[in-house]
Amino acid sequence: MAYNITLIPGDGTGPEIVAEARRCIDATGVRIDWEIAEAGLAVLEKKGTPLPQEVLDSIARNRVALKGPLTTPSGTGYRSVNVQLRHHFELFACVRPCKTMKGLQKGLYPVDLVVIRENTEDLYAGIEFKEGEEATRQLIAVIAEHGKKRIAPDAGISVKPISRTASERIARFAFKYAEDNQRKKVTVVTKANIMKFTDGLFYEEAEKVAREHPSIACEHLLIDNACLHLVSSPHNFDLLLAPNLYGDIISDLCAALVGGLGVAPGANFGDECAIFEAVHGSAPKYKGKNVMNPCAVILSGGLMLDHLGELDAAERLYRAVEAVVEEGRFVTKDLNPHSSVGTREMADRIIYYLQSGK
Ligand code: NAD
Repeated sequence: MAYNITLIPGDGTGPEIVAEARRCIDATGVRIDWEIAEAGLAVLEKKGTPLPQEVLDSIARNRVALKGPLTTPSGTGYRSVNVQLRHHFELFACVRPCKTMKGLQKGLYPVDLVVIRENTEDLYAGIEFKEGEEATRQLIAVIAEHGKKRIAPDAGISVKPISRTASERIARFAFKYAEDNQRKKVTVVTKANIMKFTDGLFYEEAEKVAREHPSIACEHLLIDNACLHLVSSPHNFDLLLAPNLYGDIISDLCAALVGGLGVAPGANFGDECAIFEAVHGSAPKYKGKNVMNPCAVILSGGLMLDHLGELDAAERLYRAVEAVVEEGRFVTKDLNPHSSVGTREMADRIIYYLQSGK
């Protein structure tokens, strides 16, 4: 039986990386009927929306998608399609494993940690009040009326909602993930000393769930302190649990610890669907140049195979990527500045290892 899976090629360099990832995943021998669904800038002109209904229908039907990066215009333009997808399918948990591959160790010890980020709330909820608008003026007046701080009349305001329900849900997901994946310690990352009613609440819920899991250690670090320790002693971390914004930032930091964005995979889980995607974006300036590292999307495909229960294929895919990285000859420039190997050639080498079974 073949799996039906939605494939979103994405924007910028997305299509060229996703095509190579698809070849590598197919080379594991797992049979997949890929259903191509175009989203982002690629369809905006054709269909008048960056997220056509048929993309949502395809994901709802297949319940699993592999997605290339999608461009989000800064400042103006449409809202992030990535965020819209996460909200539409209630993909509340973002999971980003960071593991040092042979040949990429930077510090004294290898890193093997996973970042779990709440995906639906916080400053990413998309509740914003534009500077100078009537609603913003009223909000500023209400805040002043309630004896809170004075806000400058020319301020824009972004709202940071963090609920007990969503915090408890992500904490339960994180501790279950820790149990299922032999992780021993959860580090909750917040700024609870400053934002008591949001980050403080997030931490309270995590602590409550932690008490139900006595076999897993739980510690709390403030985000600034966590960044320092992640850089100086990343091997001391096991699983990091964070609200949306901090989770986003620390997962890029952690990606840098294990070789950069080119090798950092990710997954978004909800109760019904899962979408797998790299941590990196669409890097549009490199579009069509065949220079991007395809491994982050390939490894995201490995997480997808794991999710499908194809554990052996996932393991073979991971080992093939690691073999190519360790060999160091057929890797893109981000891993070896002297290399002239491109996206396609790196994927060819991964397929060679997969097929030779080495
Ligand atoms: P980016 O991740 O696209 O690129 C930043 C830099 O990282 C690149 O210039 C490149 O030097 C390096 N890089 C990224 N991926 C690489 C790879 N596979 N191989 C080698 N080097 C790689 O970040 P950005 O420039 O801030 O964002 C570009 C666009 O992507 C923006 O519109 C942003 O909103 C979007 N974005 C999308 C997603 C997503 O779809 N999940 C995630 C992040 C950013």
